[in-house]
Amino acid sequence: MEKTFWNRVNNKELLEQVSEGKEVIWINENQEKTADALAKINITMADIDDAEARLARFAPFIKKVFPETEPQNGLIESPLTEIPHMQKQLEEEYTTSIPGRLFLKQDSHLAISGSVKARGGIYEVLKHAEDLALEHGKIKLTDDYSVFASPEFKEFFSQFKIQVGSTGNLGMSIGIMSAALGFHVIVHMSADAKQWKKDLLRQRGAEVIEYNDDYSKAVEVGRKNSDADPSSYFVDDENSVTLFLGYAVAAKRIQKQFAEKGITVDADHPLFVYIPCGVGGAPGGVAFGFKQLFGDNVHVFFIEPTQAPCMLVGMASGLQNEVSVQDFGLSGQTHADGLAVGRASGFVGGVMKNLLSGILSLEDYHIYDLMRDIVNTEDIFLEPSACASFWGPIQLKSPEMQAYIEKMGLKDKMANAVHIPWATGGSLVPAEIREEYMHTHLK
Ligand SMILES: *Cc1c(COP(=O)(O)O)cnc(C)c1O
Repeated sequence: MEKTFWNRVNNKELLEQVSEGKEVIWINENQEKTADALAKINITMADIDDAEARLARFAPFIKKVFPETEPQNGLIESPLTEIPHMQKQLEEEYTTSIPGRLFLKQDSHLAISGSVKARGGIYEVLKHAEDLALEHGKIKLTDDYSVFASPEFKEFFSQFKIQVGSTGNLGMSIGIMSAALGFHVIVHMSADAKQWKKDLLRQRGAEVIEYNDDYSKAVEVGRKNSDADPSSYFVDDENSVTLFLGYAVAAKRIQKQFAEKGITVDADHPLFVYIPCGVGGAPGGVAFGFKQLFGDNVHVFFIEPTQAPCMLVGMASGLQNEVSVQDFGLSGQTHADGLAVGRASGFVGGVMKNLLSGILSLEDYHIYDLMRDIVNTEDIFLEPSACASFWGPIQLKSPEMQAYIEKMGLKDKMANAVHIPWATGGSLVPAEIREEYMHTHLK
């Protein structure tokens, strides 16, 4: 490879394979003791607590406007489901062994927007709404936030705009919640965004602008338009700490689910979490929350498509967002919705530098096979991109993962392990599209 950056790249051999479109497993050689890594990051547990408290303040509003959240009292939270039949299926189909228990975190079934973006995206819109309402003296922190559902508040917010660039799911979360509050919301969508997502957004009252280009272009134009308009707020998927904190709350909420299911996480009971990664905000935020709460006892891996492994090229090379997948000769295109990102967030890459365990990449055809597996074994529908998460447990048998387990001193503890593939989306996929996916075979 004759690139000017190539002489500054770490992990050359691995990155050669990446640039050939091969599936790889990168174990993060910069991972440190969690406490040491967290000490270098200027986001703290108090910030996550603050985000959790803000979501609790908004719960009465959410419950009122989105009645499907009533059973959870206005909190947007997803089930944690043990999937033993899928575990057995994966072990047989991929001749592997997944020691311990396998659970699915079903963010695919989060209320309102049916994807992990319902955490960060919705949180950022709520925070902005609260900031505006406080600034204009319309509320106090101690008020009952169901007033946000009143015609008066909707009228107030209609003078403000919110804009975002999205491949689909982030736009849905930002669009649906912004429109519900009364904002004029504009979603700038890349060419790969699915038609049904655009239709649904327009139906909810969002303005959708379509680009014949990739995600970076949609973000660039969205940001430019928003910056030129003082009444407009831009949700910056790449650099937003707010978005990141919304995702991080997931870790706090899961503690209760662990208690209910008798799951222990400690030095003898390791926890493995596997999350599909696009620009990095969602997996990064979730990972950060888990590391804050479970420290060295949690091991977080990201999963990316072989043609769009942006976080992998950034972190493994050490050059972070200086490099894109295109620099490595890859297309950046993938069937995995939400993961078609060429350049990772530099902010998230920096936060993950000493915390993340590693990144695995997989070819697109697996995600449809895995989607059929989870439907057939557990009767749970996920969007194909979310199924990339199963690649983690499947690869536990690999020499790289085995070496990691050995290095961490976990060899004799794996029977006590809990594995959580993070299902990042799916419940809003229309029936006819599900049917189409069920019959998609790329290999
Ligand atoms: C957005 C998304 C991701 C990844 O989140 P990033 O913040 O872009 O890394 C994963 N899966 C699905 C279904 C998504 O929509």
